[in-house]
Amino acid sequence: YKNAPATMRELVDAGRAHGEQEFLVYQQKRLSFTQFFDKVDALGHYLINNKAIAKGERVAIAMRNCPEWMVAYAAIVSVGAVVVPLNSWGSADELSYCLKDAGAKLLICDPARLQLTKPLLKSLNCQAIVTGDNSNTDESIGNFDDIITQNRGKALPTTACAANDIAQIMYTSGTTGRPKGAVSSHKNICQAIYSFEFHAICSAMANPKAIEKMFAGGFAPCTLLSVPLFHVSGCYAAFLLNLRGGRKTVMMYKWSPEEALELISKERVTIFSAVPSMVMDLLRHPDVDSSDTSSLFSLGGGGAACPPAFKETISNTLSSSYVGTGYGMTESNAICASCTGDAFMYKPDSAGILSPLVEWQTRDEQGQPLPAGASGEIWLKSVCNIKQYWNKPDANNINFDGNWMATGDIGYLDEENFVYLVGRAKDLIIRGGENIYPAEIEACLSLHPSISEAAIIAVPDERLGEVPGAVIKPRDGAEICHDDIKSYLSNKLAAYKIPQNIWISSQDLPRNASGKILKSELVRQYID
Ligand code: ATP
Ligand code: MG
Repeated sequence: YKNAPATMRELVDAGRAHGEQEFLVYQQKRLSFTQFFDKVDALGHYLINNKAIAKGERVAIAMRNCPEWMVAYAAIVSVGAVVVPLNSWGSADELSYCLKDAGAKLLICDPARLQLTKPLLKSLNCQAIVTGDNSNTDESIGNFDDIITQNRGKALPTTACAANDIAQIMYTSGTTGRPKGAVSSHKNICQAIYSFEFHAICSAMANPKAIEKMFAGGFAPCTLLSVPLFHVSGCYAAFLLNLRGGRKTVMMYKWSPEEALELISKERVTIFSAVPSMVMDLLRHPDVDSSDTSSLFSLGGGGAACPPAFKETISNTLSSSYVGTGYGMTESNAICASCTGDAFMYKPDSAGILSPLVEWQTRDEQGQPLPAGASGEIWLKSVCNIKQYWNKPDANNINFDGNWMATGDIGYLDEENFVYLVGRAKDLIIRGGENIYPAEIEACLSLHPSISEAAIIAVPDERLGEVPGAVIKPRDGAEICHDDIKSYLSNKLAAYKIPQNIWISSQDLPRNASGKILKSELVRQYID
C-alpha cells in the first residue's frame, strides 16, 4: 500500500484528527480521541524523560483489556521503543518466560499481573508501572494514573525511526509449544493495518445487506472488542484500525455472551469479530432472539478452525448482518485469506480467498515447492510478514527462506484461489504409516447434534505408533455413548480414522486466549 505510513508514530498520529469524537467505551468510562492522546503524550514524555527508554529497547504490556493497554501501546511505539504485548492470561511462569526472552526494560501492567511477575522483576532488571489504585512503596514501581497526572500537557518526544526498524515483539498463542516472539518492523504493521482496512471495505462492498445499512443514514461504525488486545485481531483489527479511522470501540474486560448482547444493543455495535467459539457462544445464547442486534452490520469469526456448524448457525441467526471468516497468524500480521458474502456459503469448507497482498506456495516434507493445487505445508510471502522470531536462530533458519515464511499449516489452494486448511503439521497423527489430520475428524464431530466440543489427540500405540483419540464434551443435557460416536463416524470416515479411545468430559475443553483447544493439556489429562 503506497499510501500507508512508514512508521507507527505516523499511523498512531492519524487518530489525532478525530478530536472530540468518542473513541473508547469501557465499563463506566468514556474517552474521546483527544482525551486518549493527552494520556499517550504524558506517558510517552515520561518514558523518554524519566525512564530513559532508548530507541529499540523493549517495553512490555501485561493487562487485561482496558484503555490503559491502548495508551501504553500507542506511547511505546510512538517514542521508537519496541512494544511487547504479553498474554495476560499467562501464569507467572509464562509471563516471566516472555519478559525474560524479550529482555524487557520496563513492564506496564495491571495489579494482578504485577503480583505474578514481581518476584522476578528485580532479577530481570525490569522496572514496572502499574495501573489502578495502589499504595506501592517500591521505588522501581510507578503508578500509571500518577504518571499521567504529573506529565499532563507535556509534549510527546520525537525519535527518528525508519520503516524497517523493529516496532514490536508479539508472542504467538502457544498452541503447539512455548509462545514464540514474532518480530515486526514498523512497515510490517503499517501495511497490515491498511490490509485490514482493505479487507473491511471489500467485504462490505461485496455484501448487499452491508451496503444498505451503510447508506441508510445515521450509520456510525462501532466495534465490540471482545478478543484480547495482545493478539493481532484485537490489537490491529479493533484497536489500531479504529484509532486511525476514528471509530468508536466498546471494550470488554473479559468474554461474556450476556454482556456482549447487552452492549451490542446499548451502544449500537456494528462490528463484532471474534474467534469462532465466541461467535457460537453468542448465537447459541438463549437471549439472542429477544436482544436488539439490529445495529450489527458485520459478524465474523476467524483465527481458528470454524466448525461446519458455525457457518450454518451464523448465517441463519442474525440475518441482518453479513458474515465472514478469515485465516491468519501472528507471524503474517495481516489476514492471509478471508471469506464473506456468497463465497462464505458457496465454499463452506474454505478458510477464504487468498489476500491480494499475499503470495502462496505449498512445499513437501523435503521443502520442495509442490505444483498448483497440491496439498502441503503452506509458505507465504507478504510485505506484512514478520521479519523473524526473537532469539530463535534455529526456528529462523527453518521457517524463513528469503521472503518466504513457513506457516506450520497444511493446506491447498483451489483453482479460484480459495484456501483450504487441512491441519497443522504438528498435529498430524501417523497411524501405521497412514496420515490422519485431526481437523477432519473434529469437523465431523462438531456436526453431531449432541456434541458441544471435540478434540482429537494422538494416543501412543505399540503396534501402530500412534492412533487418534477423542475428547468430547456433550451439549448440555445430551446423553452420548462411545458406540453412538463410533457408529456416527463410521458413516462418514474411513475406518482407520475412527478414534478407538473416546473420553467424555463434563468440563469445557481447555482453550488458550485465541480460543484454540490446548491439546497438550488434554494429553496431560488423559494420556500421560
Ligand atoms: P503457536 O504458533 O505458538 O503454536 P498459534 O499458531 O495457535 O500458536 P496464532 O498465531 O495465534 O498462534 O495462530 C495462528 C494459527 O491459527 C494458524 O497458523 C492456523 O493453524 C490457525 N488458524 C488461523 N486461522 C484459521 C482458520 N480460519 N481455520 C483454521 N485454523 C486457523
Ligand atoms: Mg503458530
